[in-house]
Amino acid sequence: MNTRPDPPPPTLRLAIDTDALAANWRALNDLSSPARAGAAVKADCYGLGADNCVPVLRDAGCRDFFVAHWSEVAPALRHVAPGRLSVLHGPVNAAEADYARALGVRPVINSLHQARVWTEGGGGPCDLMVDTGINRLGVAPSQLGEDDIRALDVHVLLSHLSSADEDAPANAQQLAIFGEAKRRIAHRETSLSNSAGIALGSAYHCDLTRPGIALYGGVPSPALAQHIRQVAYLQASIIHIAEIGAGDTVGYNREFAASGPMRVGTVSLGYADGFLRSWGGGFLLHEGRRLRLLGKVSMDMVVVDLADAPQIGIGDWLDVPYHLPDAARHTGLSQYELLTLLGHRFGRSVKADCLANAADAKPNAAQH
Ligand SMILES: *Cc1c(COP(=O)(O)O)cnc(C)c1O
Repeated sequence: MNTRPDPPPPTLRLAIDTDALAANWRALNDLSSPARAGAAVKADCYGLGADNCVPVLRDAGCRDFFVAHWSEVAPALRHVAPGRLSVLHGPVNAAEADYARALGVRPVINSLHQARVWTEGGGGPCDLMVDTGINRLGVAPSQLGEDDIRALDVHVLLSHLSSADEDAPANAQQLAIFGEAKRRIAHRETSLSNSAGIALGSAYHCDLTRPGIALYGGVPSPALAQHIRQVAYLQASIIHIAEIGAGDTVGYNREFAASGPMRVGTVSLGYADGFLRSWGGGFLLHEGRRLRLLGKVSMDMVVVDLADAPQIGIGDWLDVPYHLPDAARHTGLSQYELLTLLGHRFGRSVKADCLANAADAKPNAAQH
């Protein structure tokens, strides 16, 4: 047998502040009261890792979890009972319906087609998504009287707001259409609001809210800012240091040219990690001091000006400024994109393991 040694520790790390994650869920649950808050844990908890996040949300008191794809069911079921998990994309074919039934998770039925697939396979408890205006997934209100829909055993009747993060007339329109749908179809509970919807007020809370982005530190609506803490902390380490002189350029297409001698550091972070070129002109941080980015972001590297960090050495960690509202303003990316695009080269761990001694943790011996 070929026994390879374990790889050395990654030069990129993503630390999850699990206290902040739990506090965010509790704050959103309180804001939703007397309704309760569930949690959208799709896309591997918005990129932060189901194994890192789902147990924390469960232990904070969350009882209702939502994934999108069938591939996301098994990772979630490592931490929560099947009866607490709903699958937003629903069963498009018999294989998906059989899988749901075998595991005991609830599919969200989104169309007459899905209703038939579910019933023909044997039916059972499900949720039902009504499309009140987003025109994405969901049964049209005009279809609620169809036999295929009436045959369903609906636990949670859902709808989804298109514009909860803005003060738009669409919100009240969708609320009214959802109110009508509630009267027309038998169900046990109702759920309308994502994170931003929670800030729209109690009329939007129904029985259950479904926050996602705000759990993970996103602020989709200014009213939530005071309640939400940053959850994801990113660090990348320096893998090379060089002195360059007047006229030397840095990176692809030579976009930065030095006007005099300077010390520059190459950092193991690039667009393949989700640090896109829209970060250009920005900075990384060392012990709170800003080190400006020089030239273009490469696939695996960026270069920073070390003028304000004369003591820094190879293996030292830099912080990536990942306060989501600020990062979204700087990059033009949405807070959702900023989380879900983070790549697989980050070592993901909970904060206590990783950043408690960030200031003196060095991945390599060589320094200064
Ligand atoms: C993703 C999603 C949510 C969570 O939305 P956030 O804006 O991240 O809070 C809630 N409901 C549905 C149907 C979703 O697809």
